[in-house]
Amino acid sequence: MKVPLLDLKAQYATIKDEVLAAVSEVLDSQVCILGPKVAELEQRVAALSDCQFGVGVSSGTDALLASLMALNIGPGDEVITTPFTFFATAGCISRTGALPVFVDIDPCTYNVDPAKIEAAVTDRTKAIIPVHLYGQMCDMDPIMEIAKKHNLFVIEDGAQAISASYKGRKAGSIGTVGCFSFFPSKNLGGAGDGGMIVTNDPALHERLVAMRAHGSKPKYYHKFVGGNFRLDPIQAAILLVKLPHLGDWSEGRRRHAAFYDKAFAASGIQTPTVSPDCISIFNQYTIRISNRDAVVQALKQEGVGAEIYYPLPMHEQECFAGKCRVVGSLIESEKASRSVLSLPVYPELTQDQLDCVAHSVLQLASSLECPPLSEVLQ
Ligand SMILES: *Cc1c(COP(=O)(O)O)cnc(C)c1O
Repeated sequence: MKVPLLDLKAQYATIKDEVLAAVSEVLDSQVCILGPKVAELEQRVAALSDCQFGVGVSSGTDALLASLMALNIGPGDEVITTPFTFFATAGCISRTGALPVFVDIDPCTYNVDPAKIEAAVTDRTKAIIPVHLYGQMCDMDPIMEIAKKHNLFVIEDGAQAISASYKGRKAGSIGTVGCFSFFPSKNLGGAGDGGMIVTNDPALHERLVAMRAHGSKPKYYHKFVGGNFRLDPIQAAILLVKLPHLGDWSEGRRRHAAFYDKAFAASGIQTPTVSPDCISIFNQYTIRISNRDAVVQALKQEGVGAEIYYPLPMHEQECFAGKCRVVGSLIESEKASRSVLSLPVYPELTQDQLDCVAHSVLQLASSLECPPLSEVLQ
């Protein structure tokens, strides 16, 4: 049996007619830039995120970049974040001319360790970007406390965590702004690139709206330099069809995660830790396993999708050599990059597929020469 890491065709089959009708409606209208579909999606995603405003943008990456630009972050500034994330988080900091400053993660949640942040604050620090990795939000209370004390912006990278919650509060609603991605592999994915910024700050909302259209307001009068960061209405129309299903889809992912948790209990495989403060949307189901690289290869050979998110932490990336600052040891991020493995957890998985994945992983864990995970993690 083949089980892909993600099966977009399975999801599309359940909504195909509605999607085609929605795309056709946009094409018939020939409103090809912004317009009512983008405005409606902005309202819905803002409401879902307990925020007042949403700004549709061209990608999750551009959501981060436009947010940093709107907050006037640039050369001479420092932004504190995690090294254990998708490249875009740190890449956007660099692109503004600011310096990415990396602090280590919590080894259980893989999210930034709030206890490590304050030591990284200098008089150049302007913002913190907590990344809600794999669908689980960061421990936001201590992060917001540090931000308040030092007068820092907080940009939530919620690309993997739309609609997730922390102490009953939604991703994107706690920081200065929240950034989401509609990349097809995210829980709410378009048919291409897309993203959204949410905020409760009316003045910042206005700046963000201008920022995504070259900083212009009114048209052809530019107060500052922005970019073309607009979300396409065709994407918005497709996302509006998908949005009502997001709750059920995330519930399906949680159900599959619970199945794996049970299957892997007492196997020596480390299953994900979800804080009692959090409801995760399981964008990824990520285990730790010794002999990880051999397991991934064997799984792929058997036709089971498995991927490493992420194999090289940001402070070890060639492009950041001499262009970032590391505060303290980043050993937990380095260990995570050597031992994590994400398995198929998408909502359309069948029980047969779940059984197949669990069986393959368990068999490989016992048949390969695997030292105990605790030794690997030393
Ligand atoms: C996907 C992702 C992004 C970037 O989103 P794109 O829409 O692909 O540009 C940023 N941060 C994290 C953590 C992501 O997972």
